[in-house]
Order: sequence, then C-alpha cells, then structure tokens
Amino acid sequence: MIEHKQKLLMDSVKTKKIKVSYHDPNVSQLEVILAKGDRRLCKVIYEAWRKGCKFDSWDEHFKFDRWMEAFADCGVDPAFYANRRFEYDEILPWDHLDYYISKEFFIRENKTARQSVTTPHCRLKCSACGVSKEIGGPCFAKNKNDI
Ligand code: SF4
Repeated sequence: MIEHKQKLLMDSVKTKKIKVSYHDPNVSQLEVILAKGDRRLCKVIYEAWRKGCKFDSWDEHFKFDRWMEAFADCGVDPAFYANRRFEYDEILPWDHLDYYISKEFFIRENKTARQSVTTPHCRLKCSACGVSKEIGGPCFAKNKNDI
C-alpha cells in the first residue's frame, strides 16, 4: 500500500524543480506503527530488541522481518495501527497530554485537509486552535505587515 502511494506521489510530480525523497516502505510502515501505537507496543519493542533489532535507522541494520515476528509473537496486529483510519471519537494514546492545542482543532484540521483546504496563517486569521485561550490573549498583533 505504501509503495502504491509513493508511486502515485512520484508520478504526480512533473517538474524537475521539485525533488521528492522518501524512505524504504518498510521503514515508513514501522514508523507509522510506532507513531500511532500505544502501550501494547512496549512488549513488541522489547521482543524486537531481543531478536536483534538495534540501530534500526541504519539501513544495513534494519530487520523488518524480525519486527514482524515480534508483532506476531506478542499477538499484536501492526495493521491495527498502520492500516486503518482512526475514528474521531477514539481515545488516542496521547490524549492525556496537554500541549495547548485542542483535539477539536485537530479534528477540524483533519477534515479541512481532506478537502484540500488550507488553514490561514495565524497572523492573518486565528483558527482557534486553543493556544490563545491557554496564554490568556491573542497570539499575535493584528498587523498583517508583521508576516
Ligand atoms: S493565532 Fe494562536 S490560537 Fe489562533 S490558531 Fe494561531 S496559535 Fe492558535
């Protein structure tokens, strides 16, 4: 699936002025799993390490098959994290973290991104992400020349 998306992306770029670089699809797959994963991945990471997965960011050390073995041995399905769209009402592993930006804002951003709609620059229009509420006032002066 990732290979297909990478090919679509490469085929869509028709100019030499744009350079597209990408990872090995297996590396990208594992990155997605770890980025979206929860505490159930602790035992998978430990098991992968026990199987010799170390220095994975170096191509010559990356052992995707052993990672997949570790998932199977631990009874964790990597597709649960990598190959489905999370529902908006799901409790996500990072929901307990407070980084000032509301989950509602991220959901709105996700919906507008799917419509290829760009969010205005904060200095042009506040999109109510939640930060100004936390800091107790506007994030920027309203002078557009500040950009
Ligand atoms: S101006 Fe501040 S509150 Fe508004 S979207 Fe930007 S960072 Fe968020």
